[in-house]
Amino acid sequence: MSLPLQQLYIGGRYVNATSGETFDTINPATGEVICQVQKASQADLDQAVISARQGFKVWSRMTGTERGRILNKAVALLRSKNQELAELEVLDTGKPIQEADCVDVASGADCIEYFAGLAPTISGSHVQFNNAFGYTRREPLGVCAGIGAWNYPIQIACWKAAMSLSCGNSMIYKPASMTPLTSFKLAEIFTEAGLPDGVFNVITGDSKIGQGLSLHPCIEKISLTGSTATGKIVMANAASTLKHVTMELGGKSPLIIFEDASIDNAVSAAMLANFYTQGEICTNGTRVFVEESIHDIFVEKLLARTKKMIIGDPMDPKTQVGALISESHMNSVLDYIEQGKKAGATLLCGGQRRTEGNLAKGNFVEPTIFTNCSDDMSIVQEEIFGPVMSILTFTDEEEVIRRANDSDYGLAAGVFTQNINRAHRVIAELEAGTCWINNYNITPIELPIGGYKQSGIGRENGPTAIEHYTQLKSVYVELGDVDCPYE
Ligand code: NDP
Repeated sequence: MSLPLQQLYIGGRYVNATSGETFDTINPATGEVICQVQKASQADLDQAVISARQGFKVWSRMTGTERGRILNKAVALLRSKNQELAELEVLDTGKPIQEADCVDVASGADCIEYFAGLAPTISGSHVQFNNAFGYTRREPLGVCAGIGAWNYPIQIACWKAAMSLSCGNSMIYKPASMTPLTSFKLAEIFTEAGLPDGVFNVITGDSKIGQGLSLHPCIEKISLTGSTATGKIVMANAASTLKHVTMELGGKSPLIIFEDASIDNAVSAAMLANFYTQGEICTNGTRVFVEESIHDIFVEKLLARTKKMIIGDPMDPKTQVGALISESHMNSVLDYIEQGKKAGATLLCGGQRRTEGNLAKGNFVEPTIFTNCSDDMSIVQEEIFGPVMSILTFTDEEEVIRRANDSDYGLAAGVFTQNINRAHRVIAELEAGTCWINNYNITPIELPIGGYKQSGIGRENGPTAIEHYTQLKSVYVELGDVDCPYE
């Protein structure tokens, strides 16, 4: 498929960037250029802000019910275009179509539907005083900026738009440069659904545009999904105008499997937590702590199932492992695998790039499992963001909690056990914002998601997200005279 030059989307329509510059977006499975994408200039960014402010005036004055109605039309359109959007996402990300056609667009649509439903419920409170009363108004922030990562492009764009727009804000969205295409389709869908012009704008460009958004005096909030390193820069820039921030950042999460766990379920979870989307998932449970007594049986079952995983053309519905996002990212993953070997971990399976047949020009890496890992190895400490699982063993509960928490990250954690008391006791001790008992990486929209420690600030999804996209105004209403000591 060859697509035309990708323009910017500002004020409800496509416009040319004024920079005259473009960049390529590449299919990770073939190395081919999908299309060229225009780079926004500072002037384009300023124009997007003007447009978003105009859109905000119209949108924020609509009732929650009216906003919800338009958002729900967008949900229906998203679902009706599921297949074409999923195919475009596969082209841009390299992830398997068997994932994209049932998860990426669906999860985005679910989130918009959920927040469309919450929109009419957004309200303040009433407080009674003597001869006076007070009330609060929960008001939108204004223009919000969303900056997305490349692993779940349309899902991230939908999630940020859902929260922002349901509260009455407008949004300027900057997708990751490696995967910009589906965000523009979302913008088209919003316009088709009746969203007023300027309420959702998409601009593309490198980190300079992201920086421009973080520094812009007329943007009230930045919501970033990206690495912890980028989060620190964005937050520092956002501080110059005291913007609200939500940071969804990196992780190196523990998955703890006790000896009484259902081993087959624990193996399923460990595979999903490391190999789904080629391991390019922020919440992945990449430090798999297995109780020593079940290590051998766990590894035997895991190995047998991992060996059967199908690596291949992401557009083939049978493919379970697609291509990593870029050649440089693939090389970084392969470098981590070398570091693991050098550090003395045992390579149980995988570890190689695959280049046979039509995989030759893509960034394909086998699902990789290391055993005999120790806590100080780089493969155990650092976020690899590829299909690399590190297995560690433990013998008692206190020890595994301490080791699981020994990380600057705190995004997610999982515990497998049949002991209900232990499950809740361990979860309570884990320093992570998103946890699972007897499952992994399940993220229903109804539950907030976000990180502890250096994995993030704020929460997305669930009713609490409304607090991160609104501000409270307190109003005191006098019903009597002004009590004044001055004659
Ligand atoms: P990056 O941090 O490299 O990029 C994220 C976004 O930030 C991109 O749009 C990027 O633009 C932009 N950006 C980069 N530098 C700046 C800057 N100085 N100012 C403003 N914006 C900037 O992350 P990746 O895209 O590589 O995504 C992978 C990371 O995202 C992993 O660490 C992963 O854990 C995390 N992530 C977290 C999730 C969560 O919910 N917690 C979910 C998904 C991923 P450009 O692309 O143009 O460089």
